[in-house]
Amino acid sequence: RANAEKFEFQAEVSRLMDILINSLYSNKDIFLRELISNASDALDKIRFLALTDKEVLGEGDNTKLEIQIKLDKEKKILSIRDRGVGMTKEDLRKNLGTIAKSGTSAFVEKMQTSGDLNLIGQFGVGFYSVYLVADYVEVISKHNDDKQYVWESKADGAFAISEDTWNEPLGRGTEIRLHLRDEAGEYADEYKLKELVKKYSEFINFPINLWASKEVEKEVPADEDESIDEEETSESTSEEEEEEEDAEKAEDEKKPKTKKVKETTYEWELLNDVKAIWLRNPKEVTDEEYTKFYHSLAKDFSEDKPMAWSHFNAEGDVEFKAVLFIPPKAPHDLYESYYNTKQSNLKLYVRRVFISDEFNELLPKYLNFLMGLVDSDTLPLNVSREMLQQHNSLKTIKKKLIRKALDMIRKLAEEDPDESNDKKDVEESNDENEKKGQYAKFWNEFGKSIKLGIIEDATNRNRLAKLLRFETTKSDGGKTSLDQYISRMKSSQKDIFYITGASKEQLEKSPFLERLNKKDYEVIFFTDPVDEYLMQYLMDYEDKKFQNVSKEGLKLKDSKTKELKESFKGLTKWWKNTLASDNVEDVKISSRLADTPCVVVTSKYGWSAYMEKIMHSQTL
Ligand code: ADP
Ligand code: MG
Repeated sequence: RANAEKFEFQAEVSRLMDILINSLYSNKDIFLRELISNASDALDKIRFLALTDKEVLGEGDNTKLEIQIKLDKEKKILSIRDRGVGMTKEDLRKNLGTIAKSGTSAFVEKMQTSGDLNLIGQFGVGFYSVYLVADYVEVISKHNDDKQYVWESKADGAFAISEDTWNEPLGRGTEIRLHLRDEAGEYADEYKLKELVKKYSEFINFPINLWASKEVEKEVPADEDESIDEEETSESTSEEEEEEEDAEKAEDEKKPKTKKVKETTYEWELLNDVKAIWLRNPKEVTDEEYTKFYHSLAKDFSEDKPMAWSHFNAEGDVEFKAVLFIPPKAPHDLYESYYNTKQSNLKLYVRRVFISDEFNELLPKYLNFLMGLVDSDTLPLNVSREMLQQHNSLKTIKKKLIRKALDMIRKLAEEDPDESNDKKDVEESNDENEKKGQYAKFWNEFGKSIKLGIIEDATNRNRLAKLLRFETTKSDGGKTSLDQYISRMKSSQKDIFYITGASKEQLEKSPFLERLNKKDYEVIFFTDPVDEYLMQYLMDYEDKKFQNVSKEGLKLKDSKTKELKESFKGLTKWWKNTLASDNVEDVKISSRLADTPCVVVTSKYGWSAYMEKIMHSQTL
């Protein structure tokens, strides 16, 4: 094309495309939902802009916020079109090729190790999945602020953008044309497309229409020659014969005078039910529907079910509906960049209109692993995002969401037969079997978030502490809770004992445990680096104080201590003087040891040895 401007794909993007185009991955279905999801995002954007400026919607067909799918079976071209916000020339260049998203290389890496493409949408590179099924793709787009352009690429490292002078004007929005590869012939089939939309795009909140063929039977007059013949014979009949003829005619009339032929017509067929799931009564939504809804929200199309969900309707001063999900797995980088960059995974709607999925005021950081949405009736619609962010009712929404989220997690533990103290020997029901071990799974994936919550969220500290799990000197490889620990405490024990270190194996050998073990006291092992910080915030639980057994202050009832203190007075005094005060703070007779003769203990408000180590490694 004469007016085409050529561009090279950014290197990472090019690599991604290479891998996709050569992929032997069998589930290529994902491309369609990625395109529909992009169309839906673009429609959300224009609808949002229209809240403050109705003009942007234009008129006529442009106001129809819908997605259309069309198939040209002969040419093997599949097109997906939306009347969304569209892309300017600059948008096309940046979004589809030259600016790599942060997830690009992470996704390439993941694909090379797991070969699984299912999560492509989560990495922000879903568009490129078109090259699983097409070898040539055109993106025609019209944005309100620019002319209509065509982006095209054969995935050969380059793409071209031209001003569109040959296609029909789109009005506004984007049409993606996929020239299907020979191996992807199965997608040139309406039935297949319908099935995919039903399966993966059921919860898109805009109508998805398929230009569907319909075989209609049409009546056309039966062969004309025959009927003329008949007429001729009837004319030539005599009166006597007429009665006989009439009878014959009556018989003839029963035979069709016309015949049916099959004809193909096309019409738009609506493929999805646009009623939002969160507006329905929770009692009437099935588990399967929630699971599918989760998959569409999370852009996760693996078979995994979410661990739990909570769907509720808040009433009162601030009214909203919400659905929260605990994903089956933690995001790939949850405790690395994710925790610091991604505040919330909740989509905010105001009266059914999508506002934003980057609304940080809805949930605290430590709950950013939750997926879901909030639809508020109280928030105003026609104000800017910034003004919304300051709105008073957001605080109430946040408070209620946290409460519901923590309830959901607590229930996960309560319903898990593995978690209860009195393990039943009776045969377990199916339901129980399914719930067995679910909290351990949760803890494995998201336990650290609960700890971060204890640090961040003073209001809910106690609720969060209830959710903690850890190993102890008596947990026998399993994990235990604070409540369980307390239920096993000896009557003479006042504090909750714990010790911190790099691993359980290492801690088990610690001299600090000698005496406690001998006296049969249970000690908690905290072996995650974050635990050190955690214990600076978690001072007590259910009126019991936490005592680090490697720190000053450990009091074990021992009748001999007083006596020993007296007889070794001289030695301790000499020792303290010898070590001088900048080496040790004090030298004391201890009741915490059994076999080891002496041990270095941290002062009550000082850093534990392990914390020293952590801090030291951080400053290096
Ligand atoms: P993501 O949707 O996660 O941002 P994609 O690779 O699916 O990643 O899409 C890349 C970008 O291309 C989108 O963020 C959007 O800006 C743009 N885009 C893709 N499809 C459309 C469309 N139908 N309408 C408008 N913009 C689109
Ligand atoms: Mg996308």
